[in-house]
Amino acid sequence: MQTYRNFIDGAWTDAASGRTLDVLNPATLEVIARVPDSGPEDVDRAVRAARRAFDAGDWPQTSARERGRILFRLSEYLGKNAARFAEIETLNNGKPLAEAREDLSDAAFCFEYYGGLATKVRGDVLPVPGNVMSLALREPVGVAGQIIPWNYPLMMAAQKLAPAIAAGCTSVLKPAEQTPISVLELAGAFEEAGLPPGVVNIVNGAGETAGAAIVVHPEVDKIAFTGSCEVGKIIMREASATLKRVSLELGGKSPNIFFADAEFEAAIEGALFGVFLNQGEICSAGSRVLVQRSIYSRLLDAVVEKAKKIKVGPGLSPETKMGPLVSQEQYDKVLSYLEVGKKEARLVLGGGRPKHLPKEAEKGFFVEPTIFCDVDNSARIAREEIFGPVMAVIPFDDEEDACRIANDTPFGLAAAVWTRDIFKALRAVKRLRAGVVWVNHMQPAPVEAPWGGYKQSGFGRELGPHGLDEYLEVKQVYINLNDRPIGWYR
Ligand code: ADP
Ligand code: MG
Repeated sequence: MQTYRNFIDGAWTDAASGRTLDVLNPATLEVIARVPDSGPEDVDRAVRAARRAFDAGDWPQTSARERGRILFRLSEYLGKNAARFAEIETLNNGKPLAEAREDLSDAAFCFEYYGGLATKVRGDVLPVPGNVMSLALREPVGVAGQIIPWNYPLMMAAQKLAPAIAAGCTSVLKPAEQTPISVLELAGAFEEAGLPPGVVNIVNGAGETAGAAIVVHPEVDKIAFTGSCEVGKIIMREASATLKRVSLELGGKSPNIFFADAEFEAAIEGALFGVFLNQGEICSAGSRVLVQRSIYSRLLDAVVEKAKKIKVGPGLSPETKMGPLVSQEQYDKVLSYLEVGKKEARLVLGGGRPKHLPKEAEKGFFVEPTIFCDVDNSARIAREEIFGPVMAVIPFDDEEDACRIANDTPFGLAAAVWTRDIFKALRAVKRLRAGVVWVNHMQPAPVEAPWGGYKQSGFGRELGPHGLDEYLEVKQVYINLNDRPIGWYR
């Protein structure tokens, strides 16, 4: 049990109120840490530190090379301490340790990638008429308020902090109140890595208090948010008062589409992997499994058979393939959708709490991998994001039908298509209205490639070169090369 503090202006500080929040291990419900329950006063201190670091101090003078090197050092630090950090992620989020290890390697590489990109930011020279030189410079956007969720705690922090540092911005980051530990541990390495005080500030607390205070603070230039659609809408509205730049990575109801000519064994695994990875707590979860009628029963049976073997348990047990959900709130929400589903469709697997759990995990937030079949696309379990291990299987007739059902959703984060016919795959790629489309796979999110949604899944892109653009402004510079009067007023 450790008590953490906020990291503001290079120093560890308690919340002004002195209040704290408990942080749980969701597999055992044990309190494993306490963090400050910050309010507007704490956020204001952090924002003022970030502002000072951006406007004065050493940070505006650092070169892209130096910022790159800082990022390389953070990457190295995570690489060296990967085992410890993976364990922290599992203890705090619940996910299987093998998945946490993957997250760690992604997070470490994310710092390395943006370390490399820092020195590749370039502007343009534009061919404007006259004896003029026209430039478009790319400059850091300023102080970034970064609000992240609990499903990939450290990866989400890396995805926000790395491009901001590369661009020369400063940050006030609020981790999810459920999973703050890993990024606070990382903050312990900031000074050693060469980050001046105030460049990255970590403020803990609840969304409605600490998060909301960041969004309305007049000295914050940009909000980068990953989380629920509901909160995304609030943030967009609240940020409008000060016209902040906003980027939103929200949820989805992503279709995972299986044509009859898909490689059958790969399809079975792809359907499971799409929605049961990370306990289904993935914004791009393939929660709608669309199956062509001619293989519908055969694929469904095979998927159910294989899903029965998914071992649910504490993430630290080596045989575990699915851990607990992250919180009581999430557990209650998923269970309530299971009841909704039982009224709307046919339950073929799961539907509740696992019967056999190890003694130490009896109180944990565990839910069975659950499959509903013959789901109508208008059902609530096909339209609303559940954010848990719940698959809705929907039959379709042909390509036309598949794309129509797939696009019939308010969301547009991701989609996957499984077929051995490259032309069919590419026709679907063109028609699917989603920010990420996989062919014969689902869920990989390489750090080098852009990630983000269409429609109500948000806007702006993270990762890849596009992720850096979110932290850069464009400054147009017009240079008159004639050093004599313009001659307008004769
Ligand atoms: P969930 O409900 O699944 O936890 P949220 O979208 O509520 O997802 O939370 C994602 C992040 O947004 C968390 O860090 C949370 O504290 C924060 N948050 C929640 N509500 C607000 C709000 N009104 N303003 C700013 N941030 C918020
Ligand atoms: Mg919420």
